[in-house]
Amino acid sequence: MILLDNVTKTYPGDAHPALDGVSLHIEPNEFVFLVGKSGAGKSTLMKMITKEENPDSGKIIIGGIDLDYVKKRNIPNYRRRLGVVFQDFKLLPRRTVYENVALALEIAGMSGREIRNTVPKVLELVGLLDQAKKFPNQLAGGQQQRVSIARSVARQPKILIADEPTANLDKLTTEEIINLLKKINDFGTTILVTTHNESIVNNLQKRVITLKDGRIVNDQKVNGIYKLDATPVQPPQRTLQTPGHALKKVKVA
Ligand code: ADP
Repeated sequence: MILLDNVTKTYPGDAHPALDGVSLHIEPNEFVFLVGKSGAGKSTLMKMITKEENPDSGKIIIGGIDLDYVKKRNIPNYRRRLGVVFQDFKLLPRRTVYENVALALEIAGMSGREIRNTVPKVLELVGLLDQAKKFPNQLAGGQQQRVSIARSVARQPKILIADEPTANLDKLTTEEIINLLKKINDFGTTILVTTHNESIVNNLQKRVITLKDGRIVNDQKVNGIYKLDATPVQPPQRTLQTPGHALKKVKVA
């Protein structure tokens, strides 16, 4: 679903690569957290997927599409196949909640009838049907992020990527947004989320990939926890006594 093979990218003027030989395979329907310190390369990796930036070398295949062969004029079309969620929501301020979602579908070429059918369903999914006529500035941050998620899943993308979607939200709202992403994942969408939020990563126990200095230094495929470096994850402490220990306690008559 998401495949990067030996991807390297150095921005012009930088001494070090932002991504340095990154290889990664994310299967359909996975939920993956991408973590790492500031400057580790997370946003650059996301930009490789959206084709906002191109690698210097390496291969990127997203949903079966080899990005080398996506021509410049076809990039908007390609991007519409992805759901993309940003930390600052990027809603249109002069459009209502309904219109923000409807417009994305209109741009994607959906008919008026389909749009009228789809938008209420998507707003219902994100729990905002009763706010459809409001403008973004009349909503709380978490609600604005829900609109942004509604807009990005309305076209039912197979892949949703979110770059720090909860960075501007409080703890409770963050949990709500992550639960919403989990629900969307349960419906079959592959999800890749970058975050600095240790507790949501540890609570969800999904796959966790750590980037450090442009390299993948840790890839915990299951039950992942928040880790910023390569040190192995400690297995849980064993509390059972060994048989040898137990034997010593047996009294011989
Ligand atoms: P993260 O998202 O993990 O904070 P980034 O992908 O933004 O990391 O950055 C990785 C590295 O690339 C950093 O050293 C950063 O300074 C550099 N970088 C990012 N964007 C640019 C850019 N547009 N021009 C030059 N250097 C950049």
